[in-house]
Formats: sequence, structure tokens, C-alpha cells
Amino acid sequence: MRVRFAPSPTGALHIGGVRTALYNYLFARKNKGKFILRIEDTDQGRFVPGAEAYINETFQWLGIEPDEGINYGGAFAPYKQSERKELYKTYAQQLIDEGKAYYAFDTPEELDAMRERLKEAKADNQVYDSLSRQSMRNSLTLSQSEVKDLIGKNAPYVIRLKVDRDQEVSLTDMIRGEVKVSSNNIDDKVLMKSDGMPTYHLANVIDDHLMKISHVIRGEEWLPSAPLHVLLYQNFGWVDTMPQFAHLPLLLKPDGNGKLSKRDADKHGYPVFPLDWTDPNTGEKSMGFREQGYLPEAMTNFLAMLGWNPGTEQELFTRTELVEHFSIERINKSGAKFDIEKGKWFNQQYLKNVSDETLATGYLALLDKENIGCTQDKAIAICGLMKERVTFPQEIWANGKYFFIQPEAYDEKVVQKKWDDEAKTIFSDYVNVLKTTDTLTSEIALSLLNTVLERHGVGIGKVMQMLRVVITGVAGGPDLMGIIAVLGKNEVISRLEIALKTIK
Ligand code: GLU
Repeated sequence: MRVRFAPSPTGALHIGGVRTALYNYLFARKNKGKFILRIEDTDQGRFVPGAEAYINETFQWLGIEPDEGINYGGAFAPYKQSERKELYKTYAQQLIDEGKAYYAFDTPEELDAMRERLKEAKADNQVYDSLSRQSMRNSLTLSQSEVKDLIGKNAPYVIRLKVDRDQEVSLTDMIRGEVKVSSNNIDDKVLMKSDGMPTYHLANVIDDHLMKISHVIRGEEWLPSAPLHVLLYQNFGWVDTMPQFAHLPLLLKPDGNGKLSKRDADKHGYPVFPLDWTDPNTGEKSMGFREQGYLPEAMTNFLAMLGWNPGTEQELFTRTELVEHFSIERINKSGAKFDIEKGKWFNQQYLKNVSDETLATGYLALLDKENIGCTQDKAIAICGLMKERVTFPQEIWANGKYFFIQPEAYDEKVVQKKWDDEAKTIFSDYVNVLKTTDTLTSEIALSLLNTVLERHGVGIGKVMQMLRVVITGVAGGPDLMGIIAVLGKNEVISRLEIALKTIK
């Protein structure tokens, strides 16, 4: 089994494309097949520098490793279509020689006029096809000598597929089942453009054939092109080895209303690209999941579940498990809601399992940017305290600034409810006992607090929240005794004393 991911480098790879790549990869691994990365860069007008590097970096981030392809080599190289130009010409010529394709010399104006005519005549299809071609300037209507003459004079031309009328074109899609189309609804698609480059359709089919692709797994937006591709396989005489098709369901907006779009995502503040990207032509910036703090394992798991289901309640899958369970049969037909909240949930699940040491490395780098000094041990302790309470690694800093900065304000609601004379006496007693200890672990901090509370005959529940607000300024957070231990004796005493002086 051989599958391929065949992106066109026309900008940042969309997250839907990443899912397509992932499904191809999982399918190949599951079936001990090969996964090929091919770059379809024949549309010179849409080429965007950096887009190819972006794909490679995305694959590296997510651990999607091709077996063959650009940068990986393989028996079917080159894997970049612009380096295979000559080959497509030969195949187009073959179709011409066999009368299955033809030259068309029509100018853009003539094509416009044709469409106008068809529109006025209220024709069903306003396209270049078996009917309209008869009144156009092509090698089917012109004499042989006229054609020769035009080509000799370097007149611009395209090569079109000659699609015959009244044929039924059918294919069996592995996800959608039988697809049937009348050839009357397929136009004479351009195969070779006037710049000598093949169109997507021609190059794609030739390469899938030559690279011995067994399964074409791609987005649903290509389903309308599939019958044309089947026609091409028929015309080349490659039907016996034609790949099987599987068209993946669309990714929908989180509310299910329409296609997932960058505009909608921007509006709601979530990314639709794997990595940050700046468009080199427009300067427009797009945010990436990686930079937003999504972990590659979480992203992989999230994407795998967008359109595929294991048939059980299990949601968390390691990569090995995904490979083991993945099958095309369990891909859904209907569009998949891009439930970003679910994506965050996945991230949380994976973040919890990252070691404190690993998180501390990123955390220290972040602190460094803020010019905050911190020891490795302290960073590890903070990450350990915070990681279960955050969705993204950067929130360890953002939600826990109090580990380094004294509170500038205190949660008002708590102060109003809990700051009274009794609390003040307890906290000043707590300061006194804290002063007597040499080391302050979370256990010692708690037992000293209990001693004070016993003396006053007050339960711990009564002061805990106020103590948290005194120490951190805010009402929520990880284990308070853990925070106190990280802050250390002097800092805790100082915060208590400041609170006693400033809170009215
Ligand atoms: N180059 C096409 C794309 O950009 C490939 C579609 C296909 O997989 O056939 O998505």
C-alpha cells in the first residue's frame, strides 16, 4: 500500500491539510505501507516562497515522517512536480496522438464570448465541452494545416481532454460509496497550460500512477474532480492499477455552521494553522497551534478524532494506538465540527503527563524573557504545582505570577467576607510562629498553621481562602501549602505583614 500527501505550496498549510497528511500517515503505518510527500507546484502564479519549508516544519513538529518524498528521496524521485515537467508533456502528447486530447487556440476574449453566448442561449453548462468546442478554434475544428501553421508560428495554446458525450463515469469511494456522473457534466478540462505546465489534474493522475499510489486519501473538496481523474486513468489505459479513493469529510466551524474558516477562527481567537505564519506577499500574520501552546501529541490525537472514530468511548490514543486502531472504514461521511474546546481538553490531558522537568525548561525560558531569575528546582516545583490547572504551558507563568511578584491587590469578595479581627489576629500569630522555624516545607507550613488555629479554636476552613488571597492576591490556584513552600519563609512572612498593614 502506497499513499501520498500532495500539497500545493500556495501558503501556510491549513489544519485540514494536516489532518489529511495524518490520516495518510496512519493508514500507511497501519498497513505497513509507504507514505509519500509530493509537492504539487505546477501553478506558478500561486507559488508562495516558504510554504514548502512550512510543510516540512509542521511534519517535524508532529512527527509525521514520510518514507519517500522531497528531502527524503526514494525510487520515484523527483517528488516535486516542477522538476517533472518534461514527463507530463510526453503523456499529454500521447493523448493527442491517440485522439484523446486536442489543442485549443482560443484567446481569453474568445472564451469570454463563448460563455456569454452560452449564457444568452440559457445553456445548462457554460463550459468548454463536447458541444461548445465545435464552434471554437481547436484542432478538432481547424484543418490539420491550420493547426500546424499556428503551432509553427508559436501561437499560444492549451491541451484539452476530449470528453465524449453520454458516458457514465463511476467510481467507488471508500467513504462515500458509489459516485456516478454523466460525462455530459464534465468539461474538456485543460491538461497542459499555455506556459507549458501541466494542470493539477494531469500531473496528479500521472504521478499517482507512476508512483504506484494504491490509495488516494484527500479532502472532500476534491471529490468533484474524481470522475475526471477516472476518465484520465481510462484514457491512459491505467484502469487496472487505478488507486482507490477516499474523500475525507470537511472540517466545519465549531458550531457546525459552515466550513472552518480563518475568518471565523480569527474572530473567536483560535488558530487554523499548525505553526505561526507570515504571508511573504501580504505580510498578513496567522497564529499557529504550536505557538499557542498545543503539544504535538495532543494535536495529533485531536486531529485524528476529527472525522474518524474508534467505535468505542476511548478518546486518548498514543500514536502507536492510533496506528493500531486507524481504519478508513471508521471515517465518518458527515463533516467534522472543529470543536476547539475539545482541542483544549486534549491539550490539558497531555500537559498533565509532561514531566515537571520538561515543563521547567520552557518555563525558565519564558521567565528569562521577563527578566525574572529562578532556580531550576523552584521552576520544577512550580510546574509540578501548576500543570494540572492549566491548558497551555505558558499559563504556568501567566496564571502564577504571584510566585515572583507580590500581590498588588487582593480579591475583594474574599476580603469583604473573611477579613476581620479574628483573621488578623490569627495571621499575625502565624507570622510569629513562622519566624521560629528554620526550614519551611509544605508540611511544616500546615502544621504551624494548625497550631495557631487550635490555639484560637478556629477550623482551617475558615481562614484558608483568606490566607490564599493574602499570599497570592487571588482566590484560586494550586495547593496553598505548596505555594508557601516555594515562596519560602521570608517571602511568606513579608506578604503576611504587608497584608496586615494594607488591607483595611
Ligand atoms: N495538490 C492538491 C492539493 O493542494 C492535491 C489534491 C490531491 O490530493 O489530489 O490539495
